[in-house]
Amino acid sequence: MSAVEETTREESADEAAFREKARTWLRDNAPTSAVAGTQGVAADPNEATDAVTAAKQFQAKLFDAGLAGLTWPQEYGGQGLTSRHRRIFEEEASPYPLPTGIFIIGFGMCGPTVLEHGTEEQKNRYIAPMLRGDEIWCQLFSEPGAGSDVAGLQARAVETEDGWLLNGQKVWTSGAHYCDYGLVIARTDPDQPKHRGITMFIVDMNAEGVTTRPLRQITGESHFNEVFFEDVHIPRENLVGEVNDGWRCAITTLMNERVSIGSSGGDGDPIEPYVKLLRSRGLEDDPVARDEVASLYVRQRVQRYLGMRLNESLRMGTAPGPLGSVAKLHGSIISQVSSQMGVDLVGLDAVAWEDDEQGADRWAQAVLQSPGSVIAGGTSDIQRNIIGERVLGLPKEPQVDRDLPFRELTVGTQR
Ligand SMILES: Cc1cc2nc3c(=O)[nH]c(=O)nc-3n(C[C@H](O)[C@H](O)[C@H](O)COP(=O)(O)OP(=O)(O)OC[C@H]3O[C@@H](n4cnc5c(N)ncnc54)[C@H](O)[C@@H]3O)c2cc1C
Repeated sequence: MSAVEETTREESADEAAFREKARTWLRDNAPTSAVAGTQGVAADPNEATDAVTAAKQFQAKLFDAGLAGLTWPQEYGGQGLTSRHRRIFEEEASPYPLPTGIFIIGFGMCGPTVLEHGTEEQKNRYIAPMLRGDEIWCQLFSEPGAGSDVAGLQARAVETEDGWLLNGQKVWTSGAHYCDYGLVIARTDPDQPKHRGITMFIVDMNAEGVTTRPLRQITGESHFNEVFFEDVHIPRENLVGEVNDGWRCAITTLMNERVSIGSSGGDGDPIEPYVKLLRSRGLEDDPVARDEVASLYVRQRVQRYLGMRLNESLRMGTAPGPLGSVAKLHGSIISQVSSQMGVDLVGLDAVAWEDDEQGADRWAQAVLQSPGSVIAGGTSDIQRNIIGERVLGLPKEPQVDRDLPFRELTVGTQR
């Protein structure tokens, strides 16, 4: 069934009952106004801690009501429902500012990776507490010398009698300052070419030797961190997948990241704030302003259908491939276009407001945050490279370092 047919077909009795259940629960339990910092990015650390606690409490209630992990396997704490159920929930939830942003990396990336490559013990141990929000997860891939070229990473894990010793530095780790666990990739064999000597582990973010330092960003908030590992003991049972096969696991995480970013947004009526803005400024008959809002609306609809196609292909067990890159790239274009449009329509009010004016910083924040959307989850240049090579069939970028032992490469601090 195509995405368009899926939105227009009649709901089954089961789906209608689910909609009613979600609607009633949300009406009784969901917050109606955003709680500051509940996306885990509050500028004030105390406010952030309170916000994380509030988000955990909300997620636990959602889980206990049978409304978390809708499409995840039942044997690990999910609901085993269809993507259609998830879409229904998202539609019903769209009017509410749910404080669930801090769980996105767990649900969108780490969880799917553990489900695909983890052991039975790992799935039994970690998935349900993740879904209930009792344990929050982060993704520890990027390093100071390895971002777009993440396979050039230098964090090292050396095998010991009962596991591995991890040393090195990660950076831009979203949410590490409040996370309980993370998926880390580290070099376990520098004599193999760079994509082959990497291994993935689950790391306890409270283990001895892990230091997390929040970074302050242009918005004034601290969303991501530097993370240092000094002789961190990784127990044997925390190995994900096979030793030296971590790149395959990392690809699963990265693929899911693009899907997660590319399929977010576009629910409910995301054009509404812009239409309201148009009206409040008396611009509803201005042909240029109308045209811009209409073109944003078209982009939002396209994004929604891309997201549905991605989710559907994941549900069918097909790797979404370069479509994930298309959706990720288009999502960041929307973020830039829409934030700029907001500021253009609001005018000077976007840069100065009274202290007690609730939500007045919204447009300024959107503009300051949008460059991050071009970088996070793989930059737009990288997505364009993938689309160029895998969709348009353009020649591949030269990769002279692909088959050399990692030890011989001059990357990062390795000289
Ligand atoms: C908001 C945010 C959240 C993030 N969260 C996480 C997280 O939780 N965990 C994590 O591991 N990482 C995270 N990151 C890091 C992110 O994945 C990297 O920043 C990103 O992959 C780019 O790497 P880099 O910053 O090292 O830039 P570089 O790779 O050094 O790139 C610098 C510039 O060169 C361009 N460039 C590089 N290579 C090519 C190429 N081959 N062709 C064309 N252009 C190229 C890039 O597009 C960019 O403009 C986050 C980043 C942001 C902004």
